[in-house]
Amino acid sequence: MDQEMKKRRTLSLIALVALVLGAGLTARLQSAGKAPQKAQAASKAPRKAAAARQPATLALVNGRIWTGNPAQPWAQAVAIRDEKIIAVGTNAQIAAASGLLTQRVDLKGGFAMPGFNDAHIHFGGGALRLSQLDLNDANSLEEIQSRLKKYAEENPGAPWLLGYGWQYSWIPGGLPTRQDIDRVVSDRPVYLTAYDGHTGWANTKALAAGNVSALSKFAGIGEVVLDADRVPTGILKEGAQGLVRAKIPQPTREERRDALRRALQLAASLGITSIQNAGGDRSDVELYHDLLERNQLTLRVSVAISVGPKTTQQDIARIAALAREFSGPRLRVGAIKMMMDGVIETHTAAMLEPYSDRPESRGSSPWTQEQANNVVAWADKAGLQVMIHAIGDRAVRMALDAFEHAQKENGKKDSRFRIEHIETLAAADIPRFAQLGVLASMEPIHADPATIDVWAKAAGPERTQRAFAWRQLEKAGARLVFSSDWPSCISVSPFRGVHNAVNRQTTDGKPPGGWIPEQRVNLETTLAAYTRAGAYAAFEEQIKGTIEPGKLADIIVLSADPFKMRPGELHTLRALKTIFNGNVLYEVAP
Ligand SMILES: [Zn+2]
Repeated sequence: MDQEMKKRRTLSLIALVALVLGAGLTARLQSAGKAPQKAQAASKAPRKAAAARQPATLALVNGRIWTGNPAQPWAQAVAIRDEKIIAVGTNAQIAAASGLLTQRVDLKGGFAMPGFNDAHIHFGGGALRLSQLDLNDANSLEEIQSRLKKYAEENPGAPWLLGYGWQYSWIPGGLPTRQDIDRVVSDRPVYLTAYDGHTGWANTKALAAGNVSALSKFAGIGEVVLDADRVPTGILKEGAQGLVRAKIPQPTREERRDALRRALQLAASLGITSIQNAGGDRSDVELYHDLLERNQLTLRVSVAISVGPKTTQQDIARIAALAREFSGPRLRVGAIKMMMDGVIETHTAAMLEPYSDRPESRGSSPWTQEQANNVVAWADKAGLQVMIHAIGDRAVRMALDAFEHAQKENGKKDSRFRIEHIETLAAADIPRFAQLGVLASMEPIHADPATIDVWAKAAGPERTQRAFAWRQLEKAGARLVFSSDWPSCISVSPFRGVHNAVNRQTTDGKPPGGWIPEQRVNLETTLAAYTRAGAYAAFEEQIKGTIEPGKLADIIVLSADPFKMRPGELHTLRALKTIFNGNVLYEVAP
């Protein structure tokens, strides 16, 4: 352990030195054009020029490059030396920064931009899903059953069958039953997680494995759904999922690492160069660290550490220590993650007013306001950022109140508090985001009109006007940060997210004109929310998020120019090339 700690420190030190050197280099480049102000500066000038003349290792030329840098939004070419961008400009300017050994990539007019930063993801969970049964786009109970049957046949030795991605709206009457699965697989436990991750669907064998009954106790909010005879139907909401999940054989560390490697390849193929894990613990961080040490961590990772209502000030101090231990540009811990409520579809989101289709219920939060206030204030004081999952308008208000309380306790500083999801919110709370400097961290893919029927029925027409209110938040001065929430979503692809943000339509254009089209945002806002804002949301805007000299060279080349496409075609975009840390990591033919 000691040895490992030392290694880590050495690594952080190397990262720090690299960072300082990089920063110095930027300063040199930027000052090279200015007339020296002081004698001391003048005496250093020849060395500056020599440093600037060191050629690029990689040059991208003949491109249409959206830099994300408001001071220079477009460029033709980029020069990269090692892991950093050294120049951005015209072909001629970049030619001047190149040498004999520079690898030159001709973009042939192609579109490039900063790599995507998926600012809210559960990457390890998504990684494990890659070997499970994918039910996305199944669209009906019959198709779910037929895919499950095939999967069972293909995996005869698997003691458990796990799947994910089913949607509430596909099942006539709302929720499926254990018998629906038993009809296809009854010889071993089957557990199928809904697309949003908040509901589980078990067969009879899986319920038996978890000893699930009307009397089962579980942590937090949730429900064991019962039939008329008080027998579990197979549906487990929120915390009740733990009853069965706890019995699923846990993957070994090696299996988790292999799964991460597959997910890293997937991310590279989608142009994702940074992720921010919305939850995790030390073992997750150590797994990423393993990959980093083997030089296999091909994206930049932030991990927020999960906390709950029982978290103490001592726990927060331990997390702050972990954050000091991991603070590099490739792997960092900087935040805590709180779950203020559940989701609208299962009536577990905490609402100010009752659900439209269930007037006796308005959901609830596992946190009291006082607990939330305490944990937020402690974390903020300890220098940790706070991310709060809040989907119902009441949960959003509780989060805002907790942030306001922390500002009163600790003074207003650059805390960059984050609220995650914000699927509904009271009109009165919209201006509070800008007032309190709270980031609106949201998932355009969650507003895909193919998945909102059950949502809209539960929320009702009044609240639906402010469903996923990106545009209203933007107009009110809030900073938008976009992400996927993978695997709790129908697609991890940022291109699907971009499509939804701009269109609020399915990939086949439904509904015409878009769902609550007033809340659409434009392409520029969308791309910034997936890149620059993601870096800002993790306090990393000084080192990445835009294409400008001094920043880390995480750049992607796309199959088409999104600014010149029909908006309805945005979902067809693909990454042709992913450059990570100055190296071409992924490449396919156009
Ligand atoms: Zn999440």
